[in-house]
Amino acid sequence: KKKIAVMTSGGDSPGMNAVVRAVVRTAIHLGCDAFCVYEGYEGLVKGGDLIRQMGWAEVRGYLSEGGTLIGTARCMAFYERPGRLTAAKNMVLNGIDALIICGGDGSLTGADKFRGEWPSLLEELVSTGQLTADQVKPYQHLNIVGLVGSIDNDLSGTDATIGCYSALSRICEMVDYIEATASSHSRAFVIEVMGRHCGWLALLAGVATGADFVFIPERPVSECWHEEMCAVVKRHRSFGKRKTIVIVAEGANDKDGNKISPEQIKDLLADKSEGGLALDTRITTLGHVQRGGTAVAYDRMLGTLQGVEAVKAVLEATPETETCFIAINENKIVRKPLMKAVAETKSVVQAVEAKQFDKAMSLRDTEFSD
Ligand code: ADP
Repeated sequence: KKKIAVMTSGGDSPGMNAVVRAVVRTAIHLGCDAFCVYEGYEGLVKGGDLIRQMGWAEVRGYLSEGGTLIGTARCMAFYERPGRLTAAKNMVLNGIDALIICGGDGSLTGADKFRGEWPSLLEELVSTGQLTADQVKPYQHLNIVGLVGSIDNDLSGTDATIGCYSALSRICEMVDYIEATASSHSRAFVIEVMGRHCGWLALLAGVATGADFVFIPERPVSECWHEEMCAVVKRHRSFGKRKTIVIVAEGANDKDGNKISPEQIKDLLADKSEGGLALDTRITTLGHVQRGGTAVAYDRMLGTLQGVEAVKAVLEATPETETCFIAINENKIVRKPLMKAVAETKSVVQAVEAKQFDKAMSLRDTEFSD
């Protein structure tokens, strides 16, 4: 009987529980044994009761729970070969050679590295006497499939990551609440949302709430952004609008790569000097409410459909198949080469960090149109 394990790693995101439930139940449905690795790579390295076989009923109720019920962690040991060696040993001892990982690009990069090293890890386990040749013999190939769990929608090659629509919905709901008080008092609010390298949440929240101005990392404002923003706000106010909402992503920059802080924006909106807007302005940092809470229907659906596909993909994988991840493109659940998507994602991040903003935008445009 094939033994398939599922794990959540990196930052949690709504919909990860749908993935775990779908993988466990699909594996059992297809005649395999299903395992959960608790606490991400930490569980793989520590082993023991962090690697558990799961029954059909044990994932009952998972769809309507936020976060990840099997835990996630950052694991320093897995960055180093000795940590991965122990992880390989724990997998063989549990009879597992198929792993489905739901996480961000870091977790998925680690997974690909682990798969690449697998034969040499087994050799080392035998040569150092930790396992016998007979013990490792049935586990010559490690099959790994990735699923992208991230609220930022920051992986290239997929239209949506598991969790991004839940975070976007939460932001919209929070902005609606804030707008009620903004309107009542005729105030301005600067709302900081998550997104260090990727402005998807800020941009789409701006569209969905009709914000006055949005700052994102990929498209920094020009040198005269002070004047531009104030002119827009002034124009909207002249139409009789009683509220002002400015959304700023955590990683928003100006063209020189200087961070645009909510305080800077607030000072501008509140400026009482001659010609200033003199708006009563508050800052709200949404923080972890964006990440927590239950998943919206879309993320439950995405986690479930992709979880099912991931089990099929690990069962069909051969030693020659490239490590894949499950994407959604134009509403179709598809398998794609993992490392190509990770490399494309890194190019965007590097371009943003190197202040090559036109390049970053064109790379994102490629992603949107592919
Ligand atoms: P995310 O998956 O959300 O991008 P991280 O980058 O923190 O989050 O990665 C989560 C975990 O994945 C790390 O704590 C580490 O255990 C593992 N990991 C990440 N990158 C690598 C890598 N290059 N090599 C090995 N393991 C990695």
